Amino acid sequence: MLEPVRPRLTRVAVRSRPTAGPGRRRSPVVARGPYPSGVPRELTETPLARTRRARRIDRLLAQRYPDARCELDFRTPLELLVATVLSAQTTDVRVNLVTPVLFARYRTAADYASADRADLEGIVASTGFYRNKASTLVNLGAALCERFGGEVPARLVDLVTLPGVGRKTANVVLGNAFGIPGITVDTHVGRLARRFAWTEEEDPEKVEADVAALFHRRDWTMLSHHLIWHGRRTCHARRPACGACPVAALCPSYGSGETDPDLAARLLRFELAGGS
Ligand code: SF4
Repeated sequence: MLEPVRPRLTRVAVRSRPTAGPGRRRSPVVARGPYPSGVPRELTETPLARTRRARRIDRLLAQRYPDARCELDFRTPLELLVATVLSAQTTDVRVNLVTPVLFARYRTAADYASADRADLEGIVASTGFYRNKASTLVNLGAALCERFGGEVPARLVDLVTLPGVGRKTANVVLGNAFGIPGITVDTHVGRLARRFAWTEEEDPEKVEADVAALFHRRDWTMLSHHLIWHGRRTCHARRPACGACPVAALCPSYGSGETDPDLAARLLRFELAGGS
């Protein structure tokens, strides 16, 4: 059974909360507890302390999830781009069931651009929103052919000009197909960044900027995987398994989920890889 990690107080500077105004530091992080008894509910920590805490969290998550990686199956940048488009509103597991057939039939951007719409819709139907997704893939293939010689570009500024591709998808492709570091702010990364008090932002682009500032650029892609794996397996949106969490001692949101070690262990979802 996994050893529960008891929360303990980390060294945190207690300050009065800055008032709004031009002199206010950007994004003072307020720990909302529940920390152990006797600790004020409202704390701020210095930027250096926050950075150190963030990196310790990432190291612990790396130990918990040594196999963390992109859970979409792909062999080329185009396949990852297509798989990521299909992963909207569904699980990676579902996408991986569909892509072997899809990738065998559609091998190039030109194949998608000239696809028979009914055929494409039929293949991707089980991923949901299949009409929209099929349209996006056709338009994506056309855009790649018209503007990038049929190749997937390896620059963020180019990727985000493609149909159906936002910063999240672009960073997935950059980080996993091209080895260019990127932070993927999906629902898990956004939720965990807020639970860890790394950011107070809701807007993904602002979350990305706040998280990026805490880590070396070279760590961004693996950090994203660690957070996504932790969000899928332990720190769930509705019932986080706090009592079985390896970073409980460093998390200001400890206690927002189940804290009993045995009950929390039952909430872990190690067998369900690739959930959305
Ligand atoms: S499971 Fe609980 S303690 Fe762990 S990161 Fe999530 S909210 Fe924090």
